[in-house]
Formats: sequence, structure tokens, C-alpha cells
Amino acid sequence: MKVLKPVDAVIVGGGWAGLLMARELAVRTSLDIVVLERGPARGPKEYAEDMDEIDYVLRNKMMQNPADNTITHRHSVRDPSAPIRQYGAFKPGTGTGGSGEHWGGISDRYLEDFFVLETRLRQKFGASKLPPGIAVQDWGITYSDLEDCYWRAEQLTGVSGKAGNLRGRKIEGGNIFEAPRQNEYPTPPLIPTYAATFFNKAALELGYHPYPLPACNLSQTYTNPDGVSRPGCTYCGYCPSFGCMIGAKAQPSNTLLPVLRRKKNFSLRNNACVRRVVHKSGKAQGVTYMDESGEETFQPASIVVLSAWTPQNTRLLMLSKIGRQYDPETGKGTLGKNLTHQVTSGGHSTIVYKDALNAFMTSGAVGYCVADFDGDERIDFSKEPPGLLRGGTFSRGTSPEYLPVSTFGRIPASHSPRNWGAEWKKASIGLWDRVGSAAGYRGDHFAYRQNFMDLDPTWTDRWGDPLLRMTLDWTDYEHMQMDFGSRISDKINAAVARVSGGKLVEGGARGPAALARTPGRRTRYSASSYSTTHIQGGAVMSATPDRGAVNTWLQHWDMPNLWVVGSSSFPQNSSGNPTLTILAVTIRAADGIVGKYLKKPEALV
Ligand SMILES: Cc1cc2nc3c(=O)[nH]c(=O)nc-3n(C[C@H](O)[C@H](O)[C@H](O)COP(=O)(O)OP(=O)(O)OC[C@H]3O[C@@H](n4cnc5c(N)ncnc54)[C@H](O)[C@@H]3O)c2cc1C
Ligand code: SF4
Repeated sequence: MKVLKPVDAVIVGGGWAGLLMARELAVRTSLDIVVLERGPARGPKEYAEDMDEIDYVLRNKMMQNPADNTITHRHSVRDPSAPIRQYGAFKPGTGTGGSGEHWGGISDRYLEDFFVLETRLRQKFGASKLPPGIAVQDWGITYSDLEDCYWRAEQLTGVSGKAGNLRGRKIEGGNIFEAPRQNEYPTPPLIPTYAATFFNKAALELGYHPYPLPACNLSQTYTNPDGVSRPGCTYCGYCPSFGCMIGAKAQPSNTLLPVLRRKKNFSLRNNACVRRVVHKSGKAQGVTYMDESGEETFQPASIVVLSAWTPQNTRLLMLSKIGRQYDPETGKGTLGKNLTHQVTSGGHSTIVYKDALNAFMTSGAVGYCVADFDGDERIDFSKEPPGLLRGGTFSRGTSPEYLPVSTFGRIPASHSPRNWGAEWKKASIGLWDRVGSAAGYRGDHFAYRQNFMDLDPTWTDRWGDPLLRMTLDWTDYEHMQMDFGSRISDKINAAVARVSGGKLVEGGARGPAALARTPGRRTRYSASSYSTTHIQGGAVMSATPDRGAVNTWLQHWDMPNLWVVGSSSFPQNSSGNPTLTILAVTIRAADGIVGKYLKKPEALV
């Protein structure tokens, strides 16, 4: 094995979490930092050259190739597992910037009560009213511990939006139900699309409080506190699944790397796939990885940071035998527990709009959202099925739903009985750019005792290392949530059809982009139908070591010089999208390292 010169900090994974940690350490300290990224080098230049929907969206050009490494899935401990050979329900990123290069850009803060969810649910509903097997936990930190970190993340990326709760003052037009923020967004909202204006009008008519989706896709030129300038979005529509060709969408490559590249104490090694954290006597000594040439290499380091996203953070800890594997039978062990995947659904109806929408002019996070049903404060539970505890948000969807190839042939069943033939072609051409569902639902996903991760005893990667196994299924509660989501979506769809002069038809639109998900159908968790890339848990943060793998600074409970950063630390999944919170907890973890650990290298309290 090749042994390299020791460094101060080695960071595993070069996505938002890893490169942000590198930025914080490189700018604020003189530590010698190396980031190891399993995927290739890539960046803005190449995005300007070859935007191709078939390559990027349908063939997942920027995502991890499951032939190189994948995850296995089973619904319960009684079922056999099978490797995911085609993504899929979620799409892991790879290469410089990770999924942060090809994400959409929706940048929500989480609700205040979400950080104390266990306490909240027990107090509001009582333990006996909670779904069987529920395992949600308080984070050990509160929203106010993170508020400044959220703001630093928003400034770094230049989030475009409109505040609805500025230090407690409610402002119409923003999200008046959001947690209080100290500052207005760094940039104003994006210009809404034509279709989004109907959503806004319909939501207002229904008495809701629509607000512009907060977006990491800039509405105007912006220079962040690091002096990095990026231009405003051109609404090209080639956004999620693609890197932004002009840098309007905040990505690690255009927001963090310009700063890091100037730092002599930073280096990034691509095609370096980490296999183990090496440790002795409760101390991490570095990591081993396969380098570009296939040679196993040891990189010694004083501090090790895992930021390889939820499944690989968890797997690396398991392969390295750090922490105690969670056992769903006994509830003992903390490593692998609280696996969650954000719950989504659509309506049972489709709108055939009167006019063409020009929906190809869009951005990854442009549109309106309503949070009137988010959390548990504004739901009339007397009108809901018994057992419903929380709602979620509803928003007008964005690309890639409106890319030309994916949307061709997306027509309601009422307009063609089959997916082929002259009638179908005629309807597909006539209805192109005129069909869609106005509102998509995003809801929390509670952690359950039976949903967890461990190492698969059967399936291995090319080096013989066990793959990560996900044991995950929806419960009756998630079906209730999806039904709730579909019902409100249908209500918004009907209002949008009315205000736009369109027609509401029964059933979801059919076609390549819609076949993957049948709204409202009672299905088991499907690893092959895309939902979101918002998978969380496995190495959750906790106030005490018996409940999580890391403390609230994301420092491993058993190994003070090991930090496990990102959404693996979230005890449950929120209706809000996760990346802004990933950035916020990473900044807080860096504060812990810089402000506390480097002064006194021991377990933080
Ligand atoms: C199509 C799409 C749209 C999305 N839209 C949104 C959105 O609108 N809003 C939102 O909040 N979120 C969105 N997301 C999710 C968002 O991209 C992720 O939450 C975020 O990028 C996670 O950042 P991360 O750094 O934790 O992980 P990643 O981006 O996954 O980075 C982890 C990195 O670690 C590397 N790695 C893994 N294992 C190893 C190893 N063993 N050795 C070395 N390197 C390794 C990977 O290659 C990867 O580059 C979207 C995701 C996708 C795919
Ligand atoms: S829609 Fe805007 S942010 Fe997205 S890729 Fe195009 S220019 Fe960039």
C-alpha cells in the first residue's frame, strides 16, 4: 500500500458538504487540507459545451454509475435484498461538486418545530396517538442554534426569495409561516413562469398564502461575501440534472472552488475512492482509498471528515467498524438507524391548459409554494382522517418536467386510450406544452424503528466490500400523508384550471415522464421510481451518545477527531428540501472544529 505524507485534515467527498467544510477550514485556519472525491473532475466550462437531455436526464450522465457502486434495497427484514441497477428513486451524485452540481436549487429553511419533533408530537398528540414504530428524535439543537448558519449559507449562495417572517414581523407575499429570520434574502425572487402565475392566482383565490420558492438560482447578478460573482438566471430550463452553463445556480464548483483554488493549503484529488477510516485506540489516523491507477493508498491525517452523503457516510463507518450497528429488533445500536426519504405525491387530476405555457422557459427552483398546511398548526384535524399529524407544502413543479424529450407524449388518458398510434401522435403534438399538474406535495418522513441501513451480507462492490443495504418501506401513515397531499393538489389543480381557462381532467398525465409515479396509488416504497434525492439518517446527531452516532457538532461520539457531515445526521426528513440545512449544519460543524476543537482537541459538549 502506498503511504502518503500526513495532512492536517482529510475530507471524504467533494460535494456541498465536503467542499464547504474545506472552504471553512482553508479560509479560517492554516490547516493543510485534502479532499478525496471518488468521481471525475468537472466544472462550469464543460456545462457550456454539451447540454443534452438524453445524456444528462435520461441517462443520468452526472450521477453515480450503479455499475461502479450501488446500494441494495429490501422492504423489510423478512425480504431478500436486490441491488439498485438503475437509478432510481434517488440519484447519487459523483465527481467534483457531487449532486450540488446538478441539483434544482430549492433552498428551504426547516420549520422551528422540526428540530424538536419528538417533543412536539408527544406534547401535542400524546404518545398513544403516534404511528406504530415511530422513532423521530429531537436534534439536540434548535432552530435558533442554526439561524445564523442558515444566513451564512444563504449569503454564500445568494438565495433569491422574499422573507415572510422578518424577526417576527409577518410580510405578505413571503412565507408568513416560516420560522423567523433575521435578514431579508440576499437577492429578490426569480421572475415567475407563466404557469406559476396561475398557481399564484389560484392559491390566493383559495385563501392560501403563496410565496416564491427560495432559490439558489440567482434572480440577478450577485457577489457573495467571499467576493465570488455569479450572473442572474436566463431561465434556460436545463437545470436539475445539469450543471448551470453560466453559473447562475449555486454549485460547489462555481461558489466554493473559486475561493479554494486560491488557497495553498487546499488540494482536491479526483478519482480517489475511500474504502476505510483507519483508526486505533479511539482515534482516526487517516483513510485508505483506491487512487486513479487502482493502487490502494493510505492518507494519514489528524482530522478526518466524512462528507460522502447519507448512504456512503453510513457505509464507510460500517466498513471501518466505527460505532455500534443498529438492530431493529432490540432498538440497540446507533449506526444505520433513522433512514428516511422525503414523502411526495401529486394529484389525481391533470390540467389541459387553454394556451401553450412556454414551460421550457424555467429554472430549477422558480415558482410558487404554499405552506398553509406545513407542520401541524393550521390543519383542521377534525376534518382529516384520524391519525394524521402533520401536513406539508405544495408547489408548482419545475424542469426537467418541461424538457422537450421527457415531456413529449405526456397527455391525459382521456385524450388517447393508448401510448402509441396515430391518435396518440396527434394528441401528443396538439397538447405538447399544455398539460400538467399544478401542485406537487412535499411532506415530512418520520423515522421508524424498522427503516434502517446495514451492510449487505450478499452483494459486494468490485473490491469485495459489502454494499450498503437499505431496509425501507412506506407505512399506513405515509399513505395517509400521500392521500392528503393528493387531495389538496387536486383542489389547487381545479382552481388553476378555473383561473387559467383550462380544463381539469381525471387521472394523471401519461407518458415517459409520468409513468414512473401513479399519484395516490397505494404502493410500497419503490427504489426505481424517482421521487427526490433527499435521503437522510444513518449517522444521526443526538444530545446523548445512546441515541445517535454523532454529537450536535457532528463529531463522532466515539472518536473526537472524526466528523460525519451532511444529511446522514438528520434524525428525520422534512417537507423542506435539505441542502440549505446541510450547508447550515456543515458551517456549524466547522465552527465546532475551528472555534473549539482546534483549541482543545477532545470531545465537544
Ligand atoms: C436532480 C436533483 C435535484 C435536486 N434538487 C434539490 C433541490 O432543489 N433542493 C435541495 O435542497 N436539494 C436538492 N437535491 C439534493 C441535493 O443535491 C443534495 O442534498 C446535496 O447536493 C447533498 O450534498 P452532499 O455534499 O451532502 O452530498 P453529495 O452531493 O452526494 O456529495 C457527496 C460526494 O461524495 C463523493 N463520495 C461518495 N462516496 C465516496 C467515497 N467512498 N470516496 C470518495 N468520495 C466519495 C460523491 O462522489 C459525491 O461527490 C437534488 C438532487 C438531485 C440529484
Ligand atoms: S435555468 Fe438558470 S440557474 Fe438553471 S441552468 Fe439555466 S441559467 Fe442556470
